[in-house]
Amino acid sequence: MNKEGNIRIAIQKSGRLSEDSIALFKECGIKLEMGKGRLKSESSNFQAEFLFLRDDDIPGYVEDGVADLGIVGENVLVESEKDVIVSKKLGFSKCRLSIAIPREDPFEGPADLDGKSIATSYPKILGQYLSENNIEAQIHEISGSVEIAPSIGLADAVCDIVSSGSTLLSNGLKEVQKIFKSEAVLIANNNLSDHKKALLDKILFRINAVQKAQDNKYILLNAPNDKLDEIITIISGMKSPTVLPLAIEGWSSVHSVLEEREFWEKIEALRNAGAEGILVVPIEKMIL
Ligand code: ATP
Ligand code: MG
Repeated sequence: MNKEGNIRIAIQKSGRLSEDSIALFKECGIKLEMGKGRLKSESSNFQAEFLFLRDDDIPGYVEDGVADLGIVGENVLVESEKDVIVSKKLGFSKCRLSIAIPREDPFEGPADLDGKSIATSYPKILGQYLSENNIEAQIHEISGSVEIAPSIGLADAVCDIVSSGSTLLSNGLKEVQKIFKSEAVLIANNNLSDHKKALLDKILFRINAVQKAQDNKYILLNAPNDKLDEIITIISGMKSPTVLPLAIEGWSSVHSVLEEREFWEKIEALRNAGAEGILVVPIEKMIL
């Protein structure tokens, strides 16, 4: 069992989750060092130690309590059927599990999969989809290079991870059915001590601040004073915008925070309302 004190966090050693997982802790101000071939590392400024593992092993280690927390794709987590808590969706490593068939084969709908054989590394997620849709298909479990299965006669179709679809395309396949959406998640052991729960809360607070900042922009603009009311209603910000007089008479500088998703709409409205010299800058952390 893990010693009291440090919270133990399992992350992928090398692969599609590694870089973003490390960047996330860095943005949260938690230092971690990854040396070549190193499997464990203690943070120098936070009560945490990191285990560098294969992603498939992470849900099991978190369930057993060998690690307290872990970062893993939802696809691997659900497939593992391990009993852990999903503490936070992390928004990176987004992908989907899809069924694909040879490009020249016709496809009218999921019922066309009846009686077919499907190669996959995700037999549980696929099995769930097939039974929910009353499809009788044979699942061929293979651990890698799934996309070549149809061309070597191993299966009629595949069920595999897709992000852009280019791997499917280069193997002569077409995506016909999306069955599962995935992104990286922070998972936690079910029985964390109060001490470790407090450390997890600290980490979650920081992750929220980082995510909030990524979703928002700081905006500065100049406006004629007679247009201020209109401009302020467009960008109300966290409480209300800061308004400062400019050195030139009759003009003010307005500062506020804008959500990324409404960004372009608001910028247009601001220009139409008479705003000039609009500057938009990224926010590093945001605490509400
Ligand atoms: P390991 O050696 O640790 O077992 P792996 O080869 O099983 O690694 P990766 O290819 O590094 O796994 O993918 C890790 C996770 O990243 C996947 O389980 C999935 O959640 C996500 N992922 C996979 N492919 C993509 C992709 N093309 N784009 C975005 N995310 C992806
Ligand atoms: Mg793996």
